Amino acid sequence: MRVFVLGSGSSGNALVVESAGTRVLIEAGIGPKLVAARLAELGLDLGAGELHGIFASHQHGDHFGHAGKLAVAFSAPLFLHPGLDAPGVEAPDVLDVRRCEVRRYEIGRAVRVGGLTITTVQVPHDAAQIALRVDDGTHALGIATDVGRVTPGLVALLGECDAALVEANHCSEMLAFSEYPDVVKRRIGGGWGHLSNAQTAELAARLVGSRLARLWLGHLSRSNNTPARALETVAARARRIDVEVLPPSSPLELAVHTTKPHQLGLPF
Ligand SMILES: [Zn+2]
Ligand SMILES: [Zn+2]
Repeated sequence: MRVFVLGSGSSGNALVVESAGTRVLIEAGIGPKLVAARLAELGLDLGAGELHGIFASHQHGDHFGHAGKLAVAFSAPLFLHPGLDAPGVEAPDVLDVRRCEVRRYEIGRAVRVGGLTITTVQVPHDAAQIALRVDDGTHALGIATDVGRVTPGLVALLGECDAALVEANHCSEMLAFSEYPDVVKRRIGGGWGHLSNAQTAELAARLVGSRLARLWLGHLSRSNNTPARALETVAARARRIDVEVLPPSSPLELAVHTTKPHQLGLPF
């Protein structure tokens, strides 16, 4: 399983997961031209029909803002859970959403796209939000950003993944001393906002001993966090889980391996 991270954070999220010829785009927060350019930087040239599904976690623009245009540009079906398909929820490119093929699914019910199975669980955020697990039958990747607080369902979903991209959004002290208005501070730091480094560290601690071997930290706040703080805080609690911080916009290819290969001493 290969993962092409094209963007992570409030300037736009998108990643392509590929396995055995099936490719899905998770998050639609950057437009088709930028998606194509960042994929090309990674040596992947995708034409129409070569992307087999587009999923967005929730309605916020950095995750859903370009969903319709991407679905049209890549001739890919757009998979919508009920929170993205409710009255009053409209993608900024709503006209393109009406022009593309929409497939609806229920949160918690597995969706098959080629050789991939996508499972989802609802997580708290100030929009109907999900965490996702993409499984090719051998390897599984978890994706959980924009999470207000850790839930048992989230721990269970990520514990069944080999690797996961999870947000470490902010450092609570940096947020407290930031120039953001109090109402914004309360939103970000509250139970319906985003995970702090300490909350992500607590999540990592609960995942020690599970299948999870690698944790990629993403969706870092540019103003209220630093990669070094996120890494230090989370790695301190993530015993036996490899932790790395993703860059916000430069594209990156990652590989999902079988559980804890370095500990088993197997050649991968
Ligand atoms: Zn976001
Ligand atoms: Zn959000």
